[in-house]
Amino acid sequence: MTTNDIMKSRLKYNRPSLRARARPPKNRTPLGEAFSAANMGTSLQLQCCVDCRRFQYPSQEVCQVCLNDNLVWRAAAGEGHIISQTTLYNSLWEFFKRRIKQKPWPIATVSLDEGPIVFAHLDVEEFDKAKILDVSESTQVKVFSHYDCSMRSILIATSKDIFTDTKEARRKIVTRMSLSEPAFRDGGI
Ligand SMILES: [Zn+2]
Repeated sequence: MTTNDIMKSRLKYNRPSLRARARPPKNRTPLGEAFSAANMGTSLQLQCCVDCRRFQYPSQEVCQVCLNDNLVWRAAAGEGHIISQTTLYNSLWEFFKRRIKQKPWPIATVSLDEGPIVFAHLDVEEFDKAKILDVSESTQVKVFSHYDCSMRSILIATSKDIFTDTKEARRKIVTRMSLSEPAFRDGGI
C-alpha cells in the first residue's frame, strides 16, 4: 500500500461521508450489549424481574419497581400501540443522512401491552398513511427486534397484522427498511 493509499484510507476513517458503506451507531453500554446479545435471532426479549414479573426497557441493573437485581431475559409479545410518532428530516449520523436524503425517517414511541415504553423505527409501508398520522390507541403495532448492519439489536414497529413470527419474515422487513444487509445502494464511493 502506497503512502497515498494510506492517507486516503485515513481520510475515509475521519470523514464518514467518503466511506463506501456507512454503518449505524455501534456503541452501546454494557447493558445495551446484553440487550443485543439476548435478542440476537429472537423476536423480542426484554428484561423481566423474577420477583414482581415486570418487564422493563431499557435494560437496567435493577428492577424499576422493587429494586431486585435478579433480572432475566424473557420473550415478550411486543404488541402495543403508538403513543407518539415523528419523522426525522435531518441526522448527524452518515448512515441515516444517506437514507433521509431519499425519504424522511419515521420513528415512534410505542407503549407495549407488557408495560414498557420503547422507541422504534416505524415501518410506515405497512400502514395506511392517513391512519398512521392518527396517533391513538387505535394504531395497534407489533414491535420486534432485529440486528442492524452494525450487528446491534434495534427495535422495529410494524402493523399488528403483519407476520413477524419467523426470522426470515423479520429479516425481509428490516432489509426493505434498508437497516440491514444487503447493503443500501446509496451512491457512496
Ligand atoms: Zn421487581
